[in-house]
Amino acid sequence: MKKRVLITGAAGFLGSHLCDKFIAEDFHVIGMDNLITGDLKNIAHLFKLETFEFYHHDVTKFVHVPGKVDYILHFASPASPIDYLKIPIQTLKVGSLGTHNLLGLAREKNARILIASTSEVYGDPLVHPQTEEYFGNVNTIGPRGVYDEAKRFQESITMAYHRFHGLETRIARIFNTYGPRMRLNDGRVIPAFIGQSLRGEDLTVFGDGLQTRSFCYVDDEVEGLYRLLMSDYPLPVNIGNPEEITILDFAKEIIKLTGTQQKIVFKPLPQDDPMQREPDISKAKKILDWQPKISREEGMRKTFAYFKNLSKEELTKSEH
Ligand code: NAD
Ligand code: UDP
Repeated sequence: MKKRVLITGAAGFLGSHLCDKFIAEDFHVIGMDNLITGDLKNIAHLFKLETFEFYHHDVTKFVHVPGKVDYILHFASPASPIDYLKIPIQTLKVGSLGTHNLLGLAREKNARILIASTSEVYGDPLVHPQTEEYFGNVNTIGPRGVYDEAKRFQESITMAYHRFHGLETRIARIFNTYGPRMRLNDGRVIPAFIGQSLRGEDLTVFGDGLQTRSFCYVDDEVEGLYRLLMSDYPLPVNIGNPEEITILDFAKEIIKLTGTQQKIVFKPLPQDDPMQREPDISKAKKILDWQPKISREEGMRKTFAYFKNLSKEELTKSEH
C-alpha cells in the first residue's frame, strides 16, 4: 500500500510543486486548500489520478482526513507581503490555529509533520548570512509582524509537540523561492519584474535597491524539503539558495535577460523591508547532503518561459 501524504496549501505555488514531487515518488497525495491565494489550475492536471484527492477546506477549522496518513506537510499560508497585508488575521490564524489543528491530526494519525517556516523568522537580520542559531530581529507590531510572528509561533508549537508529545516534526526555514505557478500579481519581486517585462513596463525597484535577497529555484527547494522530511532531524533547517544579489542588480539582470530597453523606476521601500537576506546552508549540506543546483540564469529562463505562455488576458489581469 502506498504511503499517504497530506499537503496543505496544495493549490498554491510551493504546495502544487510538492504534490507533483510526491506523486512522482509514488505516494498517495491528499491536497487541502481553501483557495484564498491559491488556484485549482495549479493542480488541475492531478485530478484525473487515482493517487490524488483534494479537500476544499480552511485548515483553521477542525481538520479531518479519513484513513491513514503517514506524512503531513503544512504549507497553507499567504506568503507574499501584499497578500498577508491584505488578510492579516487569516495569516495569523493559519500559522497558529491551523498549525495546532495539523499537529493534532499528526498525533491522531501518528504521522510525521513538516511545517513551512520562513527566513522571515529572522526579520531584518543583524547577523549575516543567517544561521539557524540566530534568534532574529522582528518588529512584532509592524505590518509584516502578522506573518513573521505567526511563523515564529508555528515553530514554537511544533517544537512543543515534539518535546511534550514525542511527535516526529521537521521545520523548514524556506528562503525566497521562485518558479512557474507563482501568481503574476502577488507582488513578490520576481513575478512583478516578469509581469512588467512581458507588458513592456518599467521595472519598479523599491527603495535604493541595495537590499539583498537570495533566490532559490523551486525544483531545488522541493528536493531540499523532501530530504528534510525524510531525515531524522527535528530542529529548523534553512532551505534556500545562498547566492545573494541586490534588488537593483537583479533588475539589471532581468533587463539583460529579456534584451529589452526597459527603464528602472524607484518606488518607496515598504516598512520593515529586510535589508539583507542570505541563508547559511551548512546544516542542510551536512545533514541532508543538499545544495541548490540550478543557477539564477537557468531558473529565470525556465520561469520566463512559463509566464510567456500565459494568455494576454492573464497578463493584463495581473497589472497592479
Ligand atoms: P501561495 O500563496 O502560493 O500558497 C499558499 C496556499 O495556502 C494557497 O493555495 C492558499 O489558498 C492556501 N491557504 C492559505 N490559507 C489557508 C487556510 N486557512 N486553509 C487552507 N489553505 C490555505 O504561497 P507559497 O509561496 O506557495 O507558500 C507556501 C508556504 O511556504 C507558506 O506557508 C509560506 O509561508 C511558505 N514559504 C514560502 C516562501 C516562498 O518563497 N514561496 C518562502 C518562505 C516560506
Ligand atoms: N521589490 C521591489 N520591487 C517590486 C517588488 C518587490 O523592489 O516590484 C523588493 C522588495 O521591497 C524586497 C525585495 O524586492 O526588498 C523582495 O521582495 P518580495 O516581496 O519578493 O519578498 P520578501 O521581501 O518577502 O523577501
